[in-house]
Amino acid sequence: MIQEFLIAKDTEDALKLKRNNPKSVLYAGGTEINRLNSSIDAKTAISLANLGLDGISDEGNSVRIGSMVTFAQLIDSDLVPQWLKTAALYCGSFTKRNMATIGGNLALCSDHSYLGPALLASRARVLTANITEEGSYSEDNIPIREYHAYHSLFSGTLLLGFLISKDGRFVGSLRYANTLQSQAAVTVGFGATKNSEGVIDHVRVFAAVKGIDMQRLSAVENAIENGEFTTKQDVQLAVAHAIEAKDDSTGSSSYKRYIASEGIAQLFSDFISGGAK
Ligand SMILES: Cc1cc2nc3c(=O)[nH]c(=O)nc-3n(C[C@H](O)[C@H](O)[C@H](O)COP(=O)(O)OP(=O)(O)OC[C@H]3O[C@@H](n4cnc5c(N)ncnc54)[C@H](O)[C@@H]3O)c2cc1C
Repeated sequence: MIQEFLIAKDTEDALKLKRNNPKSVLYAGGTEINRLNSSIDAKTAISLANLGLDGISDEGNSVRIGSMVTFAQLIDSDLVPQWLKTAALYCGSFTKRNMATIGGNLALCSDHSYLGPALLASRARVLTANITEEGSYSEDNIPIREYHAYHSLFSGTLLLGFLISKDGRFVGSLRYANTLQSQAAVTVGFGATKNSEGVIDHVRVFAAVKGIDMQRLSAVENAIENGEFTTKQDVQLAVAHAIEAKDDSTGSSSYKRYIASEGIAQLFSDFISGGAK
């Protein structure tokens, strides 16, 4: 439970405060930190509110989104692509959309993540800041797949923001839950590009399956890129085989495998038929 609330004055200060306070947590919207039965147990909160990370800007070939941008800001901005607005709207609560941030959501990388599958499918770049034990501060720009693949190694990292390319890539996600307010059993994301000769490249397939970590289906991605899977049925069968799932209150493992495979196959089909980007 939070007993102390510190306000960082800049990004370096936030990392120093975090390093000097062992049971502390970086505090963005606070919706997970303060949630009943939260996954986070910390005594000290370090507010990121004064770091200037709450802007959305046009950077020419990409859109830069600060980590403190809320879901409501994503939905309201003309610069934000529709696929990301759609994912932000998976959060059914108006109040929570006004508090929850894109950085907080990705930092959690949860098995019922609203934005994770879509962001990962988009091949966004993640802007990070770190500080060493000796106090040396550095910033970096990394592929989002790296952040996901080595998630535990980034526990001390401050997310500064995201770069979303304007390359016209197809990105889609689908969320399956009993109601808008319920935790999702499955959320899937699919992204790919097709060049002028029709060659499919940079395929990304991710699934957040409740009870299991967010999964990347690399074998399915490779088979699509190599032209081994060309139909919706090919993709559906492959995903149903590759995905990990387990029974819980959101559904049986076979139900989750079924909806995940249907969802990804549907997004693949939308991509092949030149669906919305
Ligand atoms: C009733 C309820 C239902 C929910 N359902 C869902 C759901 O279905 N799907 C879902 O994805 N989430 C769900 N959440 C959790 C939460 O609302 C979202 O994940 C939200 O996006 C978290 O963002 P936040 O800014 O509030 O993060 P916070 O609560 O402030 O922080 C969450 C974690 O992210 C870290 N963090 C935050 N910002 C940064 C940063 N810039 N750099 C590094 N680390 C950072 C924090 O240190 C903390 O560990 C739910 C919450 C509630 C209360």
